[in-house]
Amino acid sequence: MNKQPILIVEDEPNIAGLIETYLEHAGFATLRAADGSRALELIRIVRPRLVILDLLLPEIDGWSVAHALRRESDIPFLILSAQKDEIDRVAGFTAGADDYVVKPFSPRELVERVRAILRRYEAGATEEQPMILRAGGLELDPGRYRVSRGADEIELTLIEFRLLQALMRAPGRVQTREELITRLYDDEPDVIDRVIDVHVGKLRRKLEPDPSSPRLIRTVRGVGYRFATEDEER
Ligand code: CA
Repeated sequence: MNKQPILIVEDEPNIAGLIETYLEHAGFATLRAADGSRALELIRIVRPRLVILDLLLPEIDGWSVAHALRRESDIPFLILSAQKDEIDRVAGFTAGADDYVVKPFSPRELVERVRAILRRYEAGATEEQPMILRAGGLELDPGRYRVSRGADEIELTLIEFRLLQALMRAPGRVQTREELITRLYDDEPDVIDRVIDVHVGKLRRKLEPDPSSPRLIRTVRGVGYRFATEDEER
């Protein structure tokens, strides 16, 4: 049993208390931060198992915490926000968030989302004899959650990693956005297609010598994406 705490970053004590109660009832250890700078401090010292992140915070706002979190770690996080706008939702995922919950929310559902993220995340890391994938000069090692090209390690977010893994499993095979969404967000059927496009764009910038004419991750117009076959890489 993983006893690393879940960090609740929320400046409204009532909401923080509610989340804490539900998480602890579900068997999780928790920790609270009421502002962004305290959150960053705790993230660096404690290395929480997951972070629940409110966006509107004193000191340092949630977006900056999200970016720092992604830059410095692969700790999963869930954004909690009063902002209903779809733009924010997309921005949340592009900031590397593993999920996004809009206030007001059901604490029970929040706990379910936390469980789902941890399932995805920890399954990826502990799969038995995970298969190392090699294609396009890249090596993807699910057991070590690591992607490299030669001696260079390429840093990816969890979602980018899963996306690349899905594509590299079957070079040449077209995968629709819907298929990819199911693989990436099995508990979130309504994630919009654009989220995939945004993550593909980010992967290409990290992997392709010329992201504007991608060689490894090919677009199949109107359908989805596929990883290049060996013939195409030459
Ligand atoms: Ca707030």
